[in-house]
Amino acid sequence: MKTIDVEVLKDLVNIVGEENILKDEVDLMCYSRDCTPYFCMPEVVVYPETVNEVSEIVKLANRRKIPITPRGGGASVTGSSLPRYGGILLSLVKMNKIKEIRPEDFYVIAEAGVLLKKLNEILSKYDLIFPHDVGSADACTLGGLIASNAHGHHGFKYGCIRDWVLSLEVVLPNGDIIRTGSNVLRSNCGYDLTRLFIGSQGTLGVITEATLRVMTTPKYKASIAAFFDRIEYANKAIIKIVSSGAEPSTIELVNRFVLKSANDEFKLNFPDAETMVVVDIDGDSEPSVKPRIEKIIDICIKEKSQKVYGSDEPSEIEKFWKPRLYLDLAISRRTQGKTNIGCLAVTDPCVPLSKIAYVVKALEEIYQKHGLIVGIAVHAGVGIIHPMIYIDVLNREEWKKAKKAEKEVIGFIKSVGGTITGEHNVGLIKIPYTRLELGNNLELMKKIKTLLDPNNIMNPGKLGLDVEDRDSSVDFAYPSYCLDLETNKEK
Ligand SMILES: Cc1cc2nc3c(=O)[nH]c(=O)nc-3n(C[C@H](O)[C@H](O)[C@H](O)COP(=O)(O)OP(=O)(O)OC[C@H]3O[C@@H](n4cnc5c(N)ncnc54)[C@H](O)[C@@H]3O)c2cc1C
Repeated sequence: MKTIDVEVLKDLVNIVGEENILKDEVDLMCYSRDCTPYFCMPEVVVYPETVNEVSEIVKLANRRKIPITPRGGGASVTGSSLPRYGGILLSLVKMNKIKEIRPEDFYVIAEAGVLLKKLNEILSKYDLIFPHDVGSADACTLGGLIASNAHGHHGFKYGCIRDWVLSLEVVLPNGDIIRTGSNVLRSNCGYDLTRLFIGSQGTLGVITEATLRVMTTPKYKASIAAFFDRIEYANKAIIKIVSSGAEPSTIELVNRFVLKSANDEFKLNFPDAETMVVVDIDGDSEPSVKPRIEKIIDICIKEKSQKVYGSDEPSEIEKFWKPRLYLDLAISRRTQGKTNIGCLAVTDPCVPLSKIAYVVKALEEIYQKHGLIVGIAVHAGVGIIHPMIYIDVLNREEWKKAKKAEKEVIGFIKSVGGTITGEHNVGLIKIPYTRLELGNNLELMKKIKTLLDPNNIMNPGKLGLDVEDRDSSVDFAYPSYCLDLETNKEK
């Protein structure tokens, strides 16, 4: 249903100027996708440059009951930044100023459209870092990271985004501009409104600015690569490393298929093992880090690692990380005609650390039983599992197999006490499982949403909050040519 008429367009031009509006179909197409196979056309794209402009646009949308979807880099892997019901797509990319850097107070104030990579380039001049190295750092914005509560590769030591946000400037769905939290390192007055907006996926308001905690850049880094011929040995080693006090910044694990693919593709000459574990350690100096490296190597050897390497050479560290970072490239070379569908509902379940080996093996079995190719990578220090499924994306039967396996995997993850998402959030594709995950908390979330956004204009149709989605069994993780979003039926 069309929501934008000539009057609304005129009002938008008055707020941001003709040059900050896209309305031609070809231009709109560029905003109709994210990193899922879905396709949702906005009716207009608007680029505000100030918080007051954002407020005026939101007020207009609220008055006319027009859906409004905030968008940063569009790197979402859940469909969260797609304008499901059309309306206004609000691109924050022109709000990209870093307003203040306070090295001695360890914070930075930046607008929502600043790219993560850009922020760290600028902070590096002050010997500071915002330590979240998400895989999409070149493309994603601070607003998108905060609204998704993203989690970087070194999240074992540095947590997720919510641990580093001190304060937010937010435009509420009625156009009011609020400031949550405070710029100091501790603020403890009443409800934590900052955290309410973190992970809200643009459904409660538009984040326009953030005060983020930053830290001094670690001066020394080293990595360990350990190979195990049984994943159970690796799991034991991981638990011992976590409890050892050696304080790694990350512990990553890949399964045999990923390791073999990378070994073949990049000629790495690593041992043929069931599991590879990579551990990073950082600190302010070599002497402070070295004993921690030795401790971790010792644990791996005691837990029957067949081979352990350690190095502080950047080229060696890069080699250790190749199977983890370039797994998609390595696997796609050996699965001609098949593509990683990193857009199913099961992209990032999180399980208890003691169950990692059990879960990885069970997932391999489930996917193989359904005739699917799977590579598995794990943020093993925190238990987040990334299964990568490869299918012929134009083949509906393969999609069906993947969806059948997915249902089984979700049930299994819940049965071991896991959660359906530890990293990417819900967006569109995990809607069928939010009830399972949240139970009655979903009702409370809906009440909060209605209180702040009675007209449901802010990113409607996401997180399972909408009446029509709440108890539905609709499977959103089908590509658009399999599922009609209007009718929620298979085409
Ligand atoms: C190659 C690749 C690697 C990735 N690696 C990781 C990873 O390591 N860890 C991880 O957690 N994720 C990862 N992701 C997913 C994605 O990058 C993150 O979710 C990221 O936070 C998205 O940022 P964005 O600016 O692109 O947001 P978008 O995709 O534009 O938006 C994401 C959500 O935030 C909302 N939003 C955006 N800006 C605002 C705003 N200013 N105010 C309110 N709401 C807003 C949108 O409405 C949407 O709901 C990866 C994606 C890719 C493609």
